[in-house]
Amino acid sequence: MSGPERPWANPEELSLKRAGRLYGRGITLRCPHCGKARLLKSWFKLKHKCPECGLRSDRGEEDFFLGGILFNYVFCGLVFLVAVVLIVAFTWPAVPWDFLQWGGIAFIAILPFLFYPFSLTTWLASDILIKPVTDEEMEWHRASREGEFRRQRVR
Ligand SMILES: [Zn+2]
Repeated sequence: MSGPERPWANPEELSLKRAGRLYGRGITLRCPHCGKARLLKSWFKLKHKCPECGLRSDRGEEDFFLGGILFNYVFCGLVFLVAVVLIVAFTWPAVPWDFLQWGGIAFIAILPFLFYPFSLTTWLASDILIKPVTDEEMEWHRASREGEFRRQRVR
């Protein structure tokens, strides 16, 4: 089964105001589309559909959250880089290299777990920003079942 097409955003839909609203909802783990409901089922899993508007958290794509994993990787890398630069800058020339080495390993091992749900919801916000949800798509989301995707992966 294939679902409705998802058109790209019009230029006026790419406003900072709209982006701020979508990302604000994503960062607070709410549905970026309606902003009314929390999307977390558990720390490592989103609800299948938004309980308020019915938007599927995967937008009906089997591999949707690969982008969320990419976001997680980028967030962790940036935060780690900024932390290392700040520690080196503020402690120079007596940089605690041993602390950076072992603390850095612990820090980079923990960060992806902390950022994981935020990565998924901000990825969903990004996707909605560049491909706004249409009425036709929402009808499909509300009618679709879990495990049913708009596009099936080629096996
Ligand atoms: Zn919603």
